[in-house]
This record gives sequence, C-alpha cells and structure tokens, in this order.
Amino acid sequence: MKFDLLIKNGIIVSEKSLYKGSIYVKDGKIEVITSAELSDEAIEIVNAEGKYIFPGFIDTHVHSRDPGATYKEDFYHSTQAAAAGGVTTIFEMPNTNPPINNVANLQRQIKNLESKAFVNFGIWAICLGKLNLEELTSLHQSGVIGFKFFWGYAVHSQTFQLMYNYHPEMKDVIPPFSDGEVFEMFQEVAKTGQVFAIHAENSDLIQYLTQKVSVDPNRKTYLDLLEGRPNLAEELTIQAGISMAKKTGARLHVLHVSTAEGIQHIRQAQKEGYPITAETCPHYLFLSAEDYEEIGPKMKVYPPVKFKKDQEELWNALRDGTISLVCSDHAPHTEEEKEGDLWSIPAGMCGVESLVPLMINAVNEEKISIFDLRRLLSEGPAKLFGLESKGEIKIGADADITIVDMDKKSIIKSQNLHSKSKVTAFDGFNIKGMPVQTIVGGKIVMKNGEIIGKPSGSFVTPN
Ligand SMILES: [Zn+2]
Repeated sequence: MKFDLLIKNGIIVSEKSLYKGSIYVKDGKIEVITSAELSDEAIEIVNAEGKYIFPGFIDTHVHSRDPGATYKEDFYHSTQAAAAGGVTTIFEMPNTNPPINNVANLQRQIKNLESKAFVNFGIWAICLGKLNLEELTSLHQSGVIGFKFFWGYAVHSQTFQLMYNYHPEMKDVIPPFSDGEVFEMFQEVAKTGQVFAIHAENSDLIQYLTQKVSVDPNRKTYLDLLEGRPNLAEELTIQAGISMAKKTGARLHVLHVSTAEGIQHIRQAQKEGYPITAETCPHYLFLSAEDYEEIGPKMKVYPPVKFKKDQEELWNALRDGTISLVCSDHAPHTEEEKEGDLWSIPAGMCGVESLVPLMINAVNEEKISIFDLRRLLSEGPAKLFGLESKGEIKIGADADITIVDMDKKSIIKSQNLHSKSKVTAFDGFNIKGMPVQTIVGGKIVMKNGEIIGKPSGSFVTPN
C-alpha cells in the first residue's frame, strides 16, 4: 500500500512518555506508527528529526464573527490564523448574527463555515432561556459541540444579539434571564448530556458597581474598571452555577476562569465528585492588572484580567488538573475600536494564532511540562467534548497533527497575524518553541508559518 503521508523520525508525545517513531497516514487517518522503515513509500514525506509530534491542538473558544461583524474577522481568516498557530480544530462560538439558536441556523452555519475552513471546526449552540428552550434537544441531535450560556447578558429582542454594558433603560432589550429561567436551562441541557458552558460574571453586581465608579469622569484607570467588575462578580456566578449543576446533573464547564476564588470553588466541587470543568486563556496566564500601564487598552477582555495572585493560582490549577484545557477566546476588534475610553471600548482581542506558541514557551520556561501541554491543548479538550478520534496519536485516529520545534525562536507581532483585525496584547512577546507544521486530516496546511493548500477542514461532532 502506498501511503499519502509519512512523518519520519519525530519524537511522539504520548500521555506520559516520549518515543521516537514514524507515522504513516492514509485517507486522513493514522495507519501505522513504527520505528521500523516500511518498504512502501508515501506520496509526501516530512522529515521530523528532532521535532516533537503532538496530536493536533484544539482551540475550543473562538469568535470568528462569521456571519455578523465580518469587518472585524471571518472564518476564512480565523482558520488560517489557527493553522498558522498550530491549531487543527477550533470550536466556533454561537453569538453570531444570526446566532446558533436553532437547527436551521446551525445547518446554514455548517455550510457557511465549511467553504472557508482551513482547519476542522465544531459549533457551539447558544442558550437563550425560554426563547429557545425547546430547540436544545434537536440542536444536540444535530451535532453541536456543546451549549453556551452568556450568563448575565441581555439580548436584543429582535436579533437576539448580546447587549454589552446592559442598562435597564436600553431599548429593544430582553434583560438578563432570571435565576428561575437559568435553572430551567441547566435542567434542559442536563438531559442532553452535553457540556453546559457559562460566561460567569454576576450582572447585578457589575451594573451596580460600574455605575457607581464610572459616574466620576476622572475614574478611568484599569483599577477603576476592576472595581466595577471585581473578582466577586466571577465568584458569585461560579458558585450559583455549581449549585445548579449539583441539583440538575448538568456537566457545567466554566469558561475563561480569571480568579483565584473561582478556582477554589471549582476545585472543591471536583473533590466532591461533580463533573465540573474549567478553562482559562493565555491573557489570564501571561498578563495581570500590574501590566496595564505597559500594555494598555489592548488587554481589555471580559472577564477582565485580574491580579498577579490570581495568575499564580491559575498556573497551579493548570498543573494540578483543576483546569482541563487552555483556549484562546479569540475575539478580534479593529484597531480603531480598541482605542479610546477604557469604559466604552469593546472587550476582546486576537488569540487563536498565539495560543500554542505562548503555551510552548511556558513549557520551555518550566511553568508546565510537555505532557501538560499535550493534555491541556489536545487530549483534554478532545475527551471533554467527546472527540474520540482526536487528541491522541494512535492507529485509526484522525491525522490531525502539530509538529513543534521546541528550540525555534520567534517574536509575536500584530502585523504578522493572519486575522482580519490584528490587535493583540502579546505584540512583541518573545517566544521559544514554535509549531512548524500543521496537518489537518492528513493534509499539510501550514509549513514554517506559511499557509499552504486550500480550505479542507471539516465539521466535527461529538461521538
Ligand atoms: Zn468568548
């Protein structure tokens, strides 16, 4: 048999060990893993001598804004950015316009994304309380990757778009859902057995405190912003979410955890045996409020980046397994939008392309091990979301592979990003260790930072 692809003599990263081997790929699947030389040649041969072979990295939290605010980003650009950054699968967030709130919109979205996908993709469904409670079962049956609830956000009454910085006097707005309605969503999603992911910030507290602080025109510093959106806001919602998950059996997943307090509650619930998981993002791991003076408004995200002490606790939680994955929360805005008043500029920045380089660099800095990297970016997300043919280099698995040069040095530069908008707080960061090839379904889509080939990613669903 002639193989499609041979990745020769790389160092394969498995759960607890490294071993030298060659991987033979046929029809998008891993067919053979061996240290022997097979007589049958392959159409394409990659010499991976000295490089590390990871099961393709997965970014579970991406906002490509497609369809919707495509002047900021679209799927054609975000998936090239993903491939350039060593990511083979992304999960697209559902707060598009229209949102992914029913099966018709999901099916349109699959078609829309398929034609532009340089990497594989899963799609989240959005929970909108009573507005789509009855759609959740059919969304589950149609292959969504999980359910996302933007807890505490108001939605536009016609378009169902999220309303940021909600205030009761806003027009055409459905206010944040009541606790009763939230509880009902937990119950419904629990029936599907899929992940229920929450944005955890208490809206009442934020509204009240933000109003109090921002009324003073002189209060515009980062610490003022944090006074309006404090650690307590995250803690309160995480506690409420854990309590509702305990009652309903929902598989609660806490998105982008940013506080030490949040981690403590999640760790405690896990100790009690509840299926509660969490993620965090590079901005919470590599930035803190103390960096604001140097970096400025580019680092505004929701939930906001907190303090050094929170950052330390997040690293502990990565190492001890409390956090099961790291993702980017890629959420681009244009440069113009990110300049100006800290209160009014939008939250979010690019991330899908810098996620893997930053985390490889963390291995070289001995913040985490190479096995932690594999767990947090490949196996962890694949297992949590039921992608059985991903997250591991094994016979029969999808040939989604990221090849890493642990010694290659690079500098993250905004202008070099593949996204449409290029704002990142990591501009100028020095990196040691880079993804050098991204292989999606047996096809090489990135080589030394360059995108090659055509969009050929496919829609992934949980098993
Ligand atoms: Zn997000």
